[in-house]
Amino acid sequence: MKITGIRVYPYRYTPKGGAFMLSGGRMFTGFDSVIVAVDTDAGLVGWGEHASAPAYLDSLHQGAIAALRHLAPAITGMDPRGVTLVNDTMNAALRGHGYAKQAIDIACWDLLGKAASLPLSVLLGGVQQEELSVLNFVKMDTPDAMRARCDEFYDAGHRQVQIKVGGNWREDVERITTVWESAQRFDTVIVDANTWWTPREARLVLKAVSDLDIHIEQPCNTMESNLSVRRATEFPFILDEALDSLDALERAHSLDGFDAAGLKMSRFGGLSGVKDARDMCVRWGKPVNIDDMSGGEIIAATTAHLAASTPAKYVVTTSLNTTYVNESIASGLFSAGGRAKAPAGPGLGLEIDEAALGTPITM
Ligand SMILES: [Mg+2]
Repeated sequence: MKITGIRVYPYRYTPKGGAFMLSGGRMFTGFDSVIVAVDTDAGLVGWGEHASAPAYLDSLHQGAIAALRHLAPAITGMDPRGVTLVNDTMNAALRGHGYAKQAIDIACWDLLGKAASLPLSVLLGGVQQEELSVLNFVKMDTPDAMRARCDEFYDAGHRQVQIKVGGNWREDVERITTVWESAQRFDTVIVDANTWWTPREARLVLKAVSDLDIHIEQPCNTMESNLSVRRATEFPFILDEALDSLDALERAHSLDGFDAAGLKMSRFGGLSGVKDARDMCVRWGKPVNIDDMSGGEIIAATTAHLAASTPAKYVVTTSLNTTYVNESIASGLFSAGGRAKAPAGPGLGLEIDEAALGTPITM
């Protein structure tokens, strides 16, 4: 099987429930995505995706399109089933830009699964979780609005929730304690300041909420500032933004910097990289959160396959991007009532609605 061409569809998702607020006043009114079709001489098509979020991730929409234009000639003619060889070739042609390579990487995994007539969850090690519990996010807002949103998520069936904070530290304490009135019914509650607090602010907040059963996620910006907070608290501690490569993950582990690792595909260059990160964490006995910043069914299905192939005891939460966006570009992924299943069909197991994607850029 040989790659004969690449089609790139720019696509924009909008967040459910209006603009999404993160710490530091960052607001997202939409997420620009590149959906990639890798065509082959066998008649099979592999699908991949990257969604950029430049205020959050090292990623730029136009950068992804330019990178894909640069990469396409290098991988045309290659057998996509040799996913590692394709990644080696991409890395030889372009240093970095893992977020753009992610779309090709996922499409090659999709083709490998289709060629083998096996779902990705089997290729990634086998199904360890038939059904996944799916996280939802309470975006930053007034404390009462956040509690009401948390109630909605509980009523909809979610049992994992993440609370976004990261403003004035006293107001954040009020946000957390107010949302907790609702969130204490959930199985897993994470408070995520998305790098915003200073170590002092983080310590003040965590002291004020010390009796709550919560995980704390990436309260500060650098590895060292997070370490100083981790050593002053007994809350289960998740690193996310600081884990932007396998090297960073190994270093954080060597410093005992986290109880659980937030693994986003875009930071590890796609499914291949995040699978390596997942396998390292499982070997260390450290649980993971598996997700990505945005996107639609292609990224959500990839996430579901990786989560399904991870032992349940090593998964803190699974977050599927389809939970947060209005648009749908494929069928085949079951996700409703706070539960999801990795598709059973070959590869990603998705049926892409090409008519919804518009006109592609051919590369
Ligand atoms: Mg996070």
